Amino acid sequence: MKLEKLLYKYFGYKSFKVGQKEVILSLLAGNDTIAMLPTGTGKSLCYQLPGYCLDGQILIISPLLSLMQDQVEQLMKFGEKRVIALNSFLDFEKRGHVLANLTKYKYIFISPEMLSIPAIIKRLQKINIALFVVDEAHCISQWGYDFRPDYSKLGDFRNKLGNPLTLALTATATKKVREDIIQSLNLNGFNKVESTIDRPNIAFYIEEVPNYRDKQSRLIELVLQIQKPGIIYFSSKKVAEQMASLLVAKGMNRTMAYHGGLDQEQRILIQQQFIHGQLDVICATSAFGMGVNKENIRFVIHFHMPMQIESYLQEIGRAGRDGKASIAILLSSPGDEQLPLQLAEGELPTELQIDWLFSQLTDHNFLEQNQYLRENGGFSEVQWRIIQGFIKNPQLLSNLEQIRQSLREFVNERLTVKKESIHYFKKWINSNSCRRDLILEYFDEEPIKEKVKNCCDVCGVQLNQYHETDKVKIISAHEEKWKDYLAKILLNSELSK
Ligand code: ADP
Ligand code: MG
Repeated sequence: MKLEKLLYKYFGYKSFKVGQKEVILSLLAGNDTIAMLPTGTGKSLCYQLPGYCLDGQILIISPLLSLMQDQVEQLMKFGEKRVIALNSFLDFEKRGHVLANLTKYKYIFISPEMLSIPAIIKRLQKINIALFVVDEAHCISQWGYDFRPDYSKLGDFRNKLGNPLTLALTATATKKVREDIIQSLNLNGFNKVESTIDRPNIAFYIEEVPNYRDKQSRLIELVLQIQKPGIIYFSSKKVAEQMASLLVAKGMNRTMAYHGGLDQEQRILIQQQFIHGQLDVICATSAFGMGVNKENIRFVIHFHMPMQIESYLQEIGRAGRDGKASIAILLSSPGDEQLPLQLAEGELPTELQIDWLFSQLTDHNFLEQNQYLRENGGFSEVQWRIIQGFIKNPQLLSNLEQIRQSLREFVNERLTVKKESIHYFKKWINSNSCRRDLILEYFDEEPIKEKVKNCCDVCGVQLNQYHETDKVKIISAHEEKWKDYLAKILLNSELSK
C-alpha cells in the first residue's frame, strides 16, 4: 500500500509534513536514521506509521514520564490499543504481566532507567524489535540541553538488543550534539534527515530595560498592547504567579499561571482552557509547553533570561504554528545572568551534599535507605537522579572513593557546560548582529540569503505591527461585557432559587 494511503487509513491525515516521508522511507529501506526536525512537526509519526509496515515491536525510549504518557494517549486516540508504557507507574504485578506478554504490544515505551534493569533487557532480548527509537535524542549528549546520564548508556542497551534498526529523533541539536548521538548509539552508515531550525514567521525582539521594576511595568504594557494569545515564560514559579495576578488586576482577566507546583488536575484544566481559547495569556515556567499543540499563539515573551539557546528555541517555537506573523520578545536588564547561573548550580549536587552523602554510605545501605538519604541530604529530584546514575549497583560501593571522585568530576564538567551556555546566551543578547543569523550559525546552518521580513530588532522590527488591531479589541471587549452579563444572569438565578 502506498504510504499516503496508510497515513490516511491509520491517522486520518491527507499529506505528510516536512521530513516525515523521507524518514519513513529511509527506515523502511532498512537504514538507521537520525531525524532533526523542529518541534511540533510530527516527529512521532516517523515511528508510529512504520509500526504498521514492520513485523515486530517498536521500542521507544523517552526521557520524561509526562511525554511518554502524551505519546501513549496520542496512539490510543488514533485507535491503537497495543500500546504500553514501561515505567515506574506500573505496579510490580502489572509489570510482571506485561513483561510476560510483550509480543501483545506493538508500541512499547520505556524510560532509560527501566531499560537499565537486567531482567527487563533479558525480556526484550526475546522479542523481535523492529525499530529502536530514541526520542529527544539530544538528551544523550553531555552538550544537549537537558543531559540525562542514563541516556548515555543507550548505545550499550542497543548493542545488547542486537543492534536493531534505529531512529534518533531530535528538534534542536548542534553539530557537536549530533556527533555525540551518532557515536554513543554506535550508528554506521545511517541516513540523516534534517530541516532548518529557522521559523521565518517568528520575529526576534530583545528589549533592554534598566531594572527589574521597569521590567514588570514594561511587561504589563506590552501584554496589554500586543495581539494574543500568548505565553510569558518565567524561571520562577513565584514570579509567574505574581505577574499573573498583576495582569488580572490590570484588566487582563483571561490570564493564568502554570507551573510544576500546581496539581495535575489544575494543570490539565489550564492547558485545555488555553488551547480552546478561554484564556489569552499563560504565565508559565518551562513546565508548560510539552504537548501544547496550539496553532495560533501570537507571542512568546521571556521575562527571565533562559539558560540556553536550545530550550529558548523550543519555547519560542510554540508561537505561530499556523504560519502567521508572531513575535518572540525577550526583556533584558543588567545582571540578568545571575538567576540562570544560580539555577544551573542548583540543578547539580553541591560539594557539601556529596561529602555528606558519602560520609553516610556503607556498602549496602544505599538502596535500603534511599528515601532517608535523599531527604536528609536535601537533594532535589534532578540532583538525586544524578546521584542515582552514579550509585546504582550496591556491589560497586566497595569502591566508594572512586565513585565520589567521578561524581565530583562530572558535576564540575556539567557546571562548566551550563555556564558556557548562559554566557553564550548573554553574548547573543548583547550582540549587534542579526539575531537569526547568529542562531543559525550556532546550529551550523548557513545564513539566510534573502532577509526575512520582520527579522529581528537588530535588522528592524516595528513592534506596533504586532499590536492588537482595534477590531480584535472590540470583539474581546464585547466578549467581556457579554460574560459580565451572563455572570449577572447566573447570579440572579442562583439568588432566586
Ligand atoms: P514533535 O514530536 O515533532 O514535537 P508530535 O509528533 O508530537 O510533534 O506531533 C505534533 C502534532 O502534529 C500532533 O498533534 C500530530 O498528531 C500532528 N501531526 C503529525 N503528523 C501530521 C500530518 N502528517 N498531518 C497533520 N498533522 C500531523
Ligand atoms: Mg516529540
